Amino acid sequence: MADEAQTFDLICIGGGSGGIATARRAAAHGARCAVIESDRLGGTCVNVGCVPKKIMWQAAHAADVMERAADYGFSGVAPRHDWQALVSARAAYIERLNGIYARNLDKAEVENITGHARFVDPHTVEVDGTRYKAERFVIATGGVPGRPAIPGGDLGIDSDGFFDLRDRPERVAVVGAGYIAVELAGVLHELGSEVQLVVRREQPLREFDAAIQQAYLDSIEQGGPTLINHFTPAGLEAAWGGYALHAEDGRSLEGLDQVVWAVGRVPNTDTLGLDAAGVSTTERGTVPVDDWQVTNQPHIFALGDVTDNPYPLTPVAIAAGRRLADRVWGGQPERRLDYRDVPTVVFTHPPIGTVGLTEAQARAEYGDEVRIYQTGFVPMDFALAPAEAKQRSTMKLVCVGEDERVVGIHLFGVGSDEMLQGFAVAVRMGATKRDLDDTVAIHPTSAEEVVTMT
Ligand SMILES: Cc1cc2nc3c(=O)[nH]c(=O)nc-3n(C[C@H](O)[C@H](O)[C@H](O)COP(=O)(O)OP(=O)(O)OC[C@H]3O[C@@H](n4cnc5c(N)ncnc54)[C@H](O)[C@@H]3O)c2cc1C
Repeated sequence: MADEAQTFDLICIGGGSGGIATARRAAAHGARCAVIESDRLGGTCVNVGCVPKKIMWQAAHAADVMERAADYGFSGVAPRHDWQALVSARAAYIERLNGIYARNLDKAEVENITGHARFVDPHTVEVDGTRYKAERFVIATGGVPGRPAIPGGDLGIDSDGFFDLRDRPERVAVVGAGYIAVELAGVLHELGSEVQLVVRREQPLREFDAAIQQAYLDSIEQGGPTLINHFTPAGLEAAWGGYALHAEDGRSLEGLDQVVWAVGRVPNTDTLGLDAAGVSTTERGTVPVDDWQVTNQPHIFALGDVTDNPYPLTPVAIAAGRRLADRVWGGQPERRLDYRDVPTVVFTHPPIGTVGLTEAQARAEYGDEVRIYQTGFVPMDFALAPAEAKQRSTMKLVCVGEDERVVGIHLFGVGSDEMLQGFAVAVRMGATKRDLDDTVAIHPTSAEEVVTMT
């Protein structure tokens, strides 16, 4: 049986961000590659992650802008939002992307295999009874949304279910403190739902710089989801009149039309036959890798969300995969992903952009050598808004040493999402505060505040 199997130089298990990027780059270097995907091509990002999320954010942003249009002299009938029309247009867009991904694999001459892959030995996987062999494998199987192990934890929806919603729920609890929770809560709020953001501790986004956490809290207090803190869910009940979410301390949120769990993600490794391949996993089910994406089996690599990668983000999975392919098949032996200074954006309203060390991390590493520059202002987007609707922006630079090297940039405010990428280049290149000062500002923008802080 085994010697009848089709043989490749590389098989990528998972046709998401990481698997596709690795296979296409390896194929460009001349390797004979296959991608095995059990679901829709493009993985989490394209189907139930970044892409549909950004479309929903864009819709919410449009609602926000329309609300402010009156400040600039617009008047007329208040627009009505059609959730179903948005969802249908989004689905059509994603279907086009699925097709583009398939065509790109074809063009790259990467074999596109559909089905669930499972290792049967360290060099063979089986998909629906057919065996495929390869000299090397990349495990890029990503993850799925997790749910709490509490009574009723299987009720309500998760982020995948959010993208399946055919109607906008009126009263929603979004449970979770990470970026996915605040993003989904923000979208629902801007599009008109009454949203409660439920967190177990004091506040959400705890891994972000303290200034960003505070700015986010101030913004939702001014107009956003209602924060319900110190609420540890103990059970969810589908009661007459809506869901009831109960806390360990006896509090309950009642009359909810929907509950969205955004409480973390679980790696896709349990049905992958990793034992047969001799690949070890952590207690959480992730695949441990070294700095070169190598698992405990030298010919099997892993990357993206299935690993303990500190940045479970699409461009990180892609970058790790492309560099791996360059190293193994492209004759570039030193090529690997450096996981420092990865920029990231949270699509709240307004968005957050952050790169490098938080102030707390910098102080832990550099002590008194740290110097902070911080500013807060009302961007011109709100110049004509009434006082109570003026939304503030916050920016912070974390610098270290005598030359004040910039090791962290933290932005909260309109435009932060598009502003950060260029500044991330500067941070990677070792820019100092003086370099920022010496850069002539672009006026009038929010971005100019990054180079004019004193
Ligand atoms: C709601 C949400 C919003 C997000 N927003 C952003 C964002 O704005 N920006 C950003 O950068 N990142 C975002 N992410 C994260 C991003 O989607 C992931 O980091 C990225 O998709 C990880 O890529 P990956 O290749 O590791 O895994 P995935 O993209 O998850 O791909 C894994 C693929 O493997 C397949 N698979 C699993 N097991 C098997 C098997 N045994 N056989 C065959 N196929 C298998 C799965 O079906 C899946 O398609 C978001 C995620 C979510 C959930």
